[in-house]
Amino acid sequence: MTHLELAADHGHRVAKERLDASPLAIRGLTVSYGEKPAVFSVDATIEDGSMTAIIGPNGAGKSTLLKAALGVIKPLSGTVTVHGKPLESARGRIAYVPQRASIDWDFPARVIDVVLMGLYRELGMIARVTGAHRRKALDCLERVGMGDFAHRQIGQLSGGQQQRVFLARALAQDADLYLLDEPFAGVDAATEKAIIDVLKALKAQGRTVVAVHHDLATITDYFDHVFLINVRKVAEGPVATTFTAETLQKAYGGRLATAQIEDLELGAG
Ligand code: ADP
Ligand code: MG
Repeated sequence: MTHLELAADHGHRVAKERLDASPLAIRGLTVSYGEKPAVFSVDATIEDGSMTAIIGPNGAGKSTLLKAALGVIKPLSGTVTVHGKPLESARGRIAYVPQRASIDWDFPARVIDVVLMGLYRELGMIARVTGAHRRKALDCLERVGMGDFAHRQIGQLSGGQQQRVFLARALAQDADLYLLDEPFAGVDAATEKAIIDVLKALKAQGRTVVAVHHDLATITDYFDHVFLINVRKVAEGPVATTFTAETLQKAYGGRLATAQIEDLELGAG
């Protein structure tokens, strides 16, 4: 090999190692519902063990990106790999908490049954639910402070309580990658605190958390990485270097006033 070929080979190996180590790597992802793409040619390499916030204005394609990463929406083009493996063989390692507004809360189910759904992959749809499964589901409810609500109907809970139950369902899945779509939207301060504590505990166990996040004021407190999107990727990386006035301006444009940006606790740039 020539020096150039060696260098190219080295570069290729380094890129491949980064991809294999990433719990979620997206390449060239384009998703379209109609004529105009909602997500266009996006690459993302989520850092293993990170807490990554996906941010961008309304309609930027954040939810679409998560759904395509889960394989629930078929992209026009692009690939998704989980620890270097195709998504199809790794779906069991991913837990998902959808945007609350997208769920029909009138369906008749008790809280404990919603959490047990998180165990279906382990159970199989027709397997018998055992005492051990119930204990595990209850344990997950305790972790989100909902242990006393196990036998309530899900539709009778407040928004924040419902959100906690869906987090408990994700915990029951014992995944190593957690994808959450605006987990703090419409919840009270106590629930927000309970949820962030659970997410930080997951991170402390070495798991990876990726959340669409609306509140720019809490990015620095809650997350260590950010991914900015506005149909196309704007930037990705550590909060300290990537959550800057420049990247925010690029993602939000005129929708975010300079004064609002000045009020934020930003990365060093
Ligand atoms: P975000 O989560 O960043 O607010 P979305 O991913 O929900 O953005 O939506 C991105 C774009 O795709 C928006 O213009 C939205 O109107 C459109 N869109 C989302 N879901 C659908 C759908 N099921 N059918 C048609 N258009 C959709
Ligand atoms: Mg959304």
